[in-house]
Amino acid sequence: TIGMLCMDTNGDIAGACTTSGLSYKMRGRVGDSPIIGSGLFIDNEIGGAAATGMGEEIMKTVGSFLIVELMRQGKSPQEACEEAVQRVVSKNSGYQEFQVAYIAMNKKGETGSYCIHPGFAMMEYKDQKNTRIESDSYIK
Ligand code: ASP
Repeated sequence: TIGMLCMDTNGDIAGACTTSGLSYKMRGRVGDSPIIGSGLFIDNEIGGAAATGMGEEIMKTVGSFLIVELMRQGKSPQEACEEAVQRVVSKNSGYQEFQVAYIAMNKKGETGSYCIHPGFAMMEYKDQKNTRIESDSYIK
């Protein structure tokens, strides 16, 4: 999955995600990516979030919507991503044999990312500069 969150010069937020789904998926499976609230959610008053990884787990917690709601309650994008990942893990009694990762951005343009396992990187384009944010941001 590729997830993207953008802010224009007016401070308006947009997002998109695209995926080929999971390898060996069952015919007809619909993952989280096309489900607004799960794979992607934007509230232009608050911010946005996008997901990648095991879609079934992301859908069970409506992860992207959850992150935006946590930011509405005052969490930073980083804190909100961490809580959403922890929610997935706790719903599975600590079982972590799959990947779930989130990115988020708020109205101030602050960003965050978090995943269960290392292996995902987030690119940030800001002030005409691309920065690869190495994910130190995972459950250790
Ligand atoms: N989230 C996608 C899905 O479950 C898979 C992925 O991120 O690679 O369909």
